[in-house]
Amino acid sequence: MKIFKGILASPGIAIGKAYILNRFHVAVVCRNIGKDEAFLEVDRLNAAVEAVRKEMIKSARESVGNIPANMRDIFNPHIQILEDPTLIGHARQMVEKKLVNAEYALKETFDKFVQRFENIRDGYFKDRLHEIELVVNKLIRELMGAGVDDGLSKLNEPAVIFAHDLTPFDTAQMSAKYVLGFVTEAGGKTSHTGIIASSLNIPAVVGVPKILRSVETGDNVIVDAITGNVVIKPTDQQFQSYNQKRQHLLFLAKKMEKEAGKEARTRDGVLFRLTANIESPSDVPTAASHGAEGIGLYRTEFLFVRGNRLPDEEEQFNDYKKVAQLVAPYEAIIRTLDLGGDKMPGHMVEEPEANPALGLRAIRYCLDQPAVFRTQLRSILRASHYGRLRVMFPMVSSLEEFLRAKAMLERMKRELDKDGVPYDKNLKVGMMVETPSAALMVTQFAVNEVDFFSVGTNDLIQYLLAIDRTNQSVANLFEPLNPAVIRLLWNIIQSANRYKVPVSVCGKMSADPVYAYLLIGMGDIENLSMDSNSIPKLKGFLRDVSAEEARKHVLKVMEFDRVRDTKKYLTKNVTPMFSEGMFSELMAEDASGDA
Ligand code: PEP
Ligand code: MG
Repeated sequence: MKIFKGILASPGIAIGKAYILNRFHVAVVCRNIGKDEAFLEVDRLNAAVEAVRKEMIKSARESVGNIPANMRDIFNPHIQILEDPTLIGHARQMVEKKLVNAEYALKETFDKFVQRFENIRDGYFKDRLHEIELVVNKLIRELMGAGVDDGLSKLNEPAVIFAHDLTPFDTAQMSAKYVLGFVTEAGGKTSHTGIIASSLNIPAVVGVPKILRSVETGDNVIVDAITGNVVIKPTDQQFQSYNQKRQHLLFLAKKMEKEAGKEARTRDGVLFRLTANIESPSDVPTAASHGAEGIGLYRTEFLFVRGNRLPDEEEQFNDYKKVAQLVAPYEAIIRTLDLGGDKMPGHMVEEPEANPALGLRAIRYCLDQPAVFRTQLRSILRASHYGRLRVMFPMVSSLEEFLRAKAMLERMKRELDKDGVPYDKNLKVGMMVETPSAALMVTQFAVNEVDFFSVGTNDLIQYLLAIDRTNQSVANLFEPLNPAVIRLLWNIIQSANRYKVPVSVCGKMSADPVYAYLLIGMGDIENLSMDSNSIPKLKGFLRDVSAEEARKHVLKVMEFDRVRDTKKYLTKNVTPMFSEGMFSELMAEDASGDA
């Protein structure tokens, strides 16, 4: 029996036989060609591009019934890579100028690409680079006659898939009938593979280095995608206890979903509003069916990342209007662009930055690019006429920044007034609290016309503790229970309450019952916003607890100077309140102890 630890990509428990997806790794050799052969070699490359494109389109079509509508454009980036002049174009040029074979030209072009960007550590960017690698490998396999299909479609009995990596195409083709779960050596938190797995409800753990060396097709395995553990050849006892746990989870998930429509009122009568974080208007119906009472965060940057050009005012207006109409009778908070550094879509990149997380991001980028910002603000204002919207600025780090952004919004209002275009005259304007400087200045923001705050704990923890949230080697230091984080959150919520400015939390902490419990104990929270799948579970938990007791526990936790003591206290006093099927990051860490 062996236990491995990885990154949780899609929650659940899978038990079954392993199936190793053996990617045919081809060694690429350099072959010199004659000048008169170059055009034939370019033709061969073009033919391979065409074959791979056809295969991708076919896969996308075949998966139509398999994945939700809002996930389908996830394939576009892969197909766009095939059309990207910087990759295929350079490879073609290399064949013609250096007179080498197409496989080698492709491999060299890609390696140069990697060298150029290897110092960039951003997880999102790494995932995109990784997608390019997958497409390049497919092309090389096609060129070498290895064929594009590599075995997943041959699967005809239920199994847990183990692979070095899986593309979103692979994942989308997985039928829940045959694929019980999957584990990959590569992959990060933002990989599309994980996103699709969640939408298909397939348990998945990614980023388990070298696991393929310890597992063979036919081995009994358990994927515990609650704690992130993968058990190879479990003992009978482990098998039985995981089986029970799995059955319970399935039963409880069904029960919780049935109750998703109920309100989240605590035992002592405090009502909490749970809202959803979305990336596209098509996510709104899913949010509603999971019991969301509005949208607490619309990450609009995904609209900009999806296409290969800037969306114009009409496109943006239609997108935001759709959200406003779909979310009725509730409200949606539209966050202005949180783009920046290497999180830029290719068509917007100018110079790669050395420290993108500290660079021209979010509101800084928008204030630096007024034309882009103005268009977005006009679109949001116009859409506000069609439902209940609010607007929110990300990554604000000074009062001046907020006031400049707000002044720009006021300018757009005057423009619309002049043109006689309707908009919501009372549109509320808020900001994310996700930099330590903003957190320390909540009082000053509150007296300077901020209508609401939303705490972005993902970035706040990153900047407060100086921990790159995408860097695996410091991932264990990313600690929501660090006393400095707890104290700062307490100050933010207390200050906002004192000035009667509504405050919400939309970072990942909201979705974890232990952290959510601490948050509700810190003061009045307008709403907790999270991924739709977490809403039913959180609602159930809040109905079981008392806000007053949560306050007492928070006050106790504030006395601890060490994370260790806080964890011990919460494990003794809070996690025992969980109903079965409820889990917290705190428990995942406990479980990692036996790995
Ligand atoms: C956050 O930082 O907590 C947040 C919600 O924003 P994002 O994860 O989009 O940076
Ligand atoms: Mg953020």
